[in-house]
Amino acid sequence: EDFYPPATFKRLKDLADTKETPFVVIDLETISEHYDTLVEYFPYASVYYAVKANPAPEILTLLRDKGSNFDVASIYELDKLLGLNVAAERCSYGNTIKKSKDIRYFYEKGVRMFATDSEADLRNIARAAPGSRVYVRILTEGSHTADWPLSRKFGCHTDMAIDLLILARDLGLEPHGISFHVGSQQRDIGVWDAAIAKVKVIFERLKEEDGIVLKMINLGGGFPANYITRANTLPTYAEEITRFIQEDFGDDFPQIILEPGRSLISNSGILVSEIVLISRKSHTALHRWIFTDVGKFSGLIETLDEAIKFPIYTEKTGETEEVVLAGPTCDSADIMYEQYKYELPLNLATGDRLYWFSTGAYTTSYSSVEFNGFPPLKSYFV
Ligand code: PLP
Repeated sequence: EDFYPPATFKRLKDLADTKETPFVVIDLETISEHYDTLVEYFPYASVYYAVKANPAPEILTLLRDKGSNFDVASIYELDKLLGLNVAAERCSYGNTIKKSKDIRYFYEKGVRMFATDSEADLRNIARAAPGSRVYVRILTEGSHTADWPLSRKFGCHTDMAIDLLILARDLGLEPHGISFHVGSQQRDIGVWDAAIAKVKVIFERLKEEDGIVLKMINLGGGFPANYITRANTLPTYAEEITRFIQEDFGDDFPQIILEPGRSLISNSGILVSEIVLISRKSHTALHRWIFTDVGKFSGLIETLDEAIKFPIYTEKTGETEEVVLAGPTCDSADIMYEQYKYELPLNLATGDRLYWFSTGAYTTSYSSVEFNGFPPLKSYFV
């Protein structure tokens, strides 16, 4: 009950009981409610759903109909959206790493908003998507408080961002704004404060020194889902972040964009698996190993370094013991939790189901196509 209202859990469980494992069941109503909460607490923001979190057509259609825009990472995601009659103006090419011909593809399809963080990419955008709006992604702090950090690989320093936006203007593009991502499942709301302060410096310097008036701040994703490690709720994030924006920009602040993935989708889903085998490495070994029919390569890649700790539920009750949890493939990297010990009932047996909570996002989209012959993780929708 800490994770799903009883009626939601029953809806998901009733469907799950009719299906062969492994699969994810997703409750669309929960996504709808999360979207409404986001819009209620960030009434001034435009939402760009990060498609990578879960690109299922059922989810994209739901969010399309609720008025969401979309943060798109590749031509394949774009094709999917266009195929669902999402207008190109509602899409932003948010990946800073892209081929010139893919930029051209987005442009030809009507997309006019592009993220960048480097001169080479910016010059490609100027050539392949002339006149488009560009926003520059900056580096932020916060990797040690995010369960799934997104720093280092993306973003540039403040000085570079300023130079890129000046160059954008000189290349005939529209310098539109600044984006950042403080890391996914970011537990420290304060990192948005530091990031917004950096953005303010960029806005002011560009205006004063070069007469460039930026219009948009993209606050990224990073908003939390419910896992074993609990974070504050979305309303608390929204209240704090709104205060940070107002402190730096006053009430008449620029357009704000949000790019949620995890916080919108995770809690709508349950990954249902079956125990394949339970074993001990010796008669005296301390821990039992529980092997399930789902693993790192079939949806649980976010257990890398045990980063995301999914709550696990079983219908068995009674005395518990600490276990190691591992997947079904012939790869020893396919161990989900070994350091962090889950306490599960002693009477668990082969064939019992384990329910991995909060697995609506970053599971099916990460699942391999046929590693060890196992098919991609299926999903069903309520
Ligand atoms: N925006 C961009 C550019 C991203 O790369 C991601 C995630 O990788 C997101 C938004 C979504 O972040 P989150 O799932 O933390 O909401």
